[in-house]
Amino acid sequence: MAVLEEPVKGVSLIKNYIDGAWVESKGEIVDVVNPATCKIIGQVGISTREEIDAAVRAAKEAFADWRRTPAVSRARYLFRLCQLLEENFEELSRIQTQEHGKTIDESRGETRRGIENVEVACGIPTLMMGDSSEDIASGIDEYLIRVPLGVFGIIGPFNFPFMIPLWSAPYAVATGNTIVIKPSSEVPFSQTRIAELVDEAGFPPGVWNVVHGGRTVVNSMLDHQDIEGITFVGSTPIMKDVIYTRCGATGKRVIAQGGAANFLVIMPDANVKATIPALMTSFFGNAGQRCLSGQTLIVVGDDDKFYNEFMASVTAMAKNIIIGYGLDEKVQMGPVRDVQKKERIINYIESGLKEGATLRLDGRNPTNIVGDYPGTCFLGSTILENVEPDMKIVVEEIFGPTMGVIRVKDLDEAIKICNENPYHNGNAIFTSNGKWARKFQYEVKSGNIGINIGVVAPMAFYPFSGMSGSFMGVLHSQGKEAVRFFTESKVCIHRWL
Ligand code: NAD
Repeated sequence: MAVLEEPVKGVSLIKNYIDGAWVESKGEIVDVVNPATCKIIGQVGISTREEIDAAVRAAKEAFADWRRTPAVSRARYLFRLCQLLEENFEELSRIQTQEHGKTIDESRGETRRGIENVEVACGIPTLMMGDSSEDIASGIDEYLIRVPLGVFGIIGPFNFPFMIPLWSAPYAVATGNTIVIKPSSEVPFSQTRIAELVDEAGFPPGVWNVVHGGRTVVNSMLDHQDIEGITFVGSTPIMKDVIYTRCGATGKRVIAQGGAANFLVIMPDANVKATIPALMTSFFGNAGQRCLSGQTLIVVGDDDKFYNEFMASVTAMAKNIIIGYGLDEKVQMGPVRDVQKKERIINYIESGLKEGATLRLDGRNPTNIVGDYPGTCFLGSTILENVEPDMKIVVEEIFGPTMGVIRVKDLDEAIKICNENPYHNGNAIFTSNGKWARKFQYEVKSGNIGINIGVVAPMAFYPFSGMSGSFMGVLHSQGKEAVRFFTESKVCIHRWL
């Protein structure tokens, strides 16, 4: 199979998209590096406070007309955007692989999931409907309408450069708000390309803005008196200490989604043939850089024969994962995003070993990389056994292609381990027993529960749920909850005279 053509060519300077125009940042310029080839593929400005101010000003001005645009008309812009995203599906997917490193199939999945959110938001005339009651008193009716609020800030992480801002953006503009998106500066291409398509779809200037940068842009958004609310997806410390705290202080509504350290539980009756490929995707897919990735495998029961055979199959499959540049279609795992992230993952593996875990498969220095790439950001799959629930590799988020394995005697013990760690986003059980599955679903305190599913990613018409340590806020991104988040309920009482 061939290495697909790269859509990003040369080294161009990525601009901000403000008020329908492409503007060069006056801030520091940093390189964007393809983690597989180690080549510089672009440069991006770390925008200044003045630049974010300009974007918010444009968004505020655009809001006045945009909110008066009927919901059916706003939906038509989104239909056009959907069409353009579909027409450019393959290019958008390859851009993600180039800037992030994930495999082309993973990128295509991300593109599909992103577009689905735009499709759901196209239903806004129905989604935004209010309520009404006749004769709450004699001759008096009461009704509720949902109204947009103004300008929203959307802050994205590096691991899903295309999809994650689309958990919020289409709902925000569909409901009549205007937006400023700040993508992760590590992966600025995807949101820039989407903005080009937004422009082509004819959205009025100022409705959809993109400002690149880092903490200055985020801090300015959090302090900005003309920003009504923030959606954030990123690491837990930033979610808690920066985003949630500051939004509380400045009275902004917020959806804040943080990191996770998830558990997958294997019951003795699990369908092994179906389970092992699901584990590969969960632990090693996206090179483990997914908030829904499995991090710790809990194998239930004291049957050594089952355990040994199961782990032998898991190890064999993990060892054979083909590593390389994601644009090579035979590659099954790309690099992690950068050298610092790779070192962080290796440090976690080493901390596990110091705490008493043992290596079953060592992915620290992979040799099975296909293609001629420098290999700086590549890691293989690592499996650690004899892991204990209080080890750092269980409790903290590793965000890499690692699997820690714990053995327990029964399901109660497995559930206790899951619930002792608040940072879980998607936990799963593999079993054929409905009673065990129901108990797990009922008792595990996680926003997303998988039953014989390894990556519990909710569809766009369901909320991207989260609980406890991995989420702060009330409403979630995606679907009806996003519509609620981006609107205020206004109650009107009408006496008919
Ligand atoms: P990150 O927290 O480093 O960055 C997220 C965003 O915050 C970026 O746009 C970044 O520029 C900005 N930022 C970083 N440091 C900041 C600071 N000190 N002040 C203000 N802004 C700052 O996260 P990341 O490494 O880009 O993304 C990976 C994390 O995202 C992982 O923890 C992962 O689990 C999490 N994530 C969570 C979900 C979810 O749904 N819960 C989904 C995807 C990723």
